[in-house]
Amino acid sequence: MRPPTAPPTIEISFPDLSPWERGNTGIPYAWRFESKRAGPQVTLQALTHGNEVCGAIALAKLLEWAFRPVRGTLTLIFANVEAYLAFDAADPFASRCIDEDLNRLWTPDVLDGPRQSRELTRARTLRPCYDATDFLLDLHSMTDPCPPLGLAGRQRKGLELAYGVALPEHIVIDEGHRAGRRLRDYAFFDDPADPRSALLIECGQHWEHASPAVAMQAALRFLRHFGIASPEFLDERLDREPLPAQRAIQVTDVVTIATDDFGFVIPVAGLDVVAKQGTLLARDGEREIRTPYDECVLIMPARRPRRGETAVRLGRFVA
Ligand SMILES: [Zn+2]
Repeated sequence: MRPPTAPPTIEISFPDLSPWERGNTGIPYAWRFESKRAGPQVTLQALTHGNEVCGAIALAKLLEWAFRPVRGTLTLIFANVEAYLAFDAADPFASRCIDEDLNRLWTPDVLDGPRQSRELTRARTLRPCYDATDFLLDLHSMTDPCPPLGLAGRQRKGLELAYGVALPEHIVIDEGHRAGRRLRDYAFFDDPADPRSALLIECGQHWEHASPAVAMQAALRFLRHFGIASPEFLDERLDREPLPAQRAIQVTDVVTIATDDFGFVIPVAGLDVVAKQGTLLARDGEREIRTPYDECVLIMPARRPRRGETAVRLGRFVA
């Protein structure tokens, strides 16, 4: 087994996004296509994190195919392209962002506040696109190998959207991170009384061979769910394999790293289930982190734990 600090192999090639730079919305790398038939405003987003390339491969394909919605509106966004362009295979985790995490900025106090960063500038530029979105699919990938995960947020409508899309198998019901709000939880997406909704899908490990296909199937299923794509278009491209029944995991605890001396004390991997309550998982300085109940599911344990960030989220399967 490779040591956990060795960077994983890059199995996929990074697409040239320069053909898509100009956009058609007045915003670089943002494209909008409108059908003459009324319908929902759907947005597909890639590169919220600059080194999570699978979604960019899927969106570039839709653009190459000159896909057009058969009803409603489709917006395609490559979000943090500046970080994407900074990707360096010798230091592949560095290009998650430039100045700060673009996916922790999505509250009015941050967006409307005085603080400046390159991610905040991009977030402020793109914000009108999200304000005009009814349904958002935000395509991500993960640091460590893990089966794909749908992150449905904390509202019932998010879980219903994930079930409507019908993949991936594992859906996480969660409130996000203390370090700041995610785009998928932005404004009305997190309002239980508002029908607009968002889904974040983690398509697998960032650079593993399988992730781009997961991103593409997720995008196609999302388009299908909203009647945005013609049956002929989908017939040609949708995976025919039967999908497994979906399972929801309720996040109960978010372990946020408090010190510079954090470490897991047992081997951890995404979706590992720890059988016994009270099992010691990690130490954070003097603090011991133990499983709060039996059959505790570990969600996206951090490969490179850093103070202030989420080390792992704990959850349990729910009906
Ligand atoms: Zn991400």
